[in-house]
Amino acid sequence: MPVEIVTIPCLSDNYAFLVHDDQSGQTALIDVPEARPILKALQDRGWSLSEVWITHHHADHVQGLADVLKTHPAKVRGSQTDAHRLPDLDIAHQDGDRFTFSDHEVQVMDVSGHTIGHICYYVPSAKAVFTADSLMALGCGRLFEGTAEQMWRSLSKLAKLPPDTNVCSGHEYTAANAKFALTIDPDNPELISRSKEISAARASDTPTVPSSLALELATNPFLRASSPEIRARLNMEEAPDVDIFAEIRARKDAF
Ligand code: ZN
Ligand code: FE
Repeated sequence: MPVEIVTIPCLSDNYAFLVHDDQSGQTALIDVPEARPILKALQDRGWSLSEVWITHHHADHVQGLADVLKTHPAKVRGSQTDAHRLPDLDIAHQDGDRFTFSDHEVQVMDVSGHTIGHICYYVPSAKAVFTADSLMALGCGRLFEGTAEQMWRSLSKLAKLPPDTNVCSGHEYTAANAKFALTIDPDNPELISRSKEISAARASDTPTVPSSLALELATNPFLRASSPEIRARLNMEEAPDVDIFAEIRARKDAF
């Protein structure tokens, strides 16, 4: 039985996700930007929470946790590296850890860069990876704590997952990301058509998250350091991939 994934808009532009296995009745929550919409999503479906999987320590990913746990006393997982600045964890994970959620294998991947100790949860049977502020739809998180090298390494790991993986990222930043992406890769036909779809989706308040890894590989400039067109545009034909990534990240910061 495949799991069901529910995307929950929170705050002004955050997403939390539920992973639900109907057979066992177990439900996991990924990140807790605020309690109210999450409690409502659970109540609407008659689900109770079994686990919470935290990606990183920023307030917009954890601040609703205490209130959610009051109603749903679930087991909390997070990064061991982050444990000192996260709410109390029941289980602290390291890169490469695997655990079972209701018969489904979950793989923990360190994707440091945005923060040190940011982790992703990859659920192969669900074809889903919960990336929060690492790989995002047409973007990636800002480098608050890590270096460009670290983020590039993290994105390169994610890029190797199966292309049909759903990228469940933590924010609705896609429209702004598309505007920027078009300055880096203006002649990419897939990016041009995706940008139009994004404008249409946002005009009707439809989430653009999750996206697919295949689509990100084809259109997300932060994954496309090897593209000859992008290299030519940046005048960096001979540069290592990581330098191309760093240049794109720096331009986005100033955009
Ligand atoms: Zn963050
Ligand atoms: Fe965030």
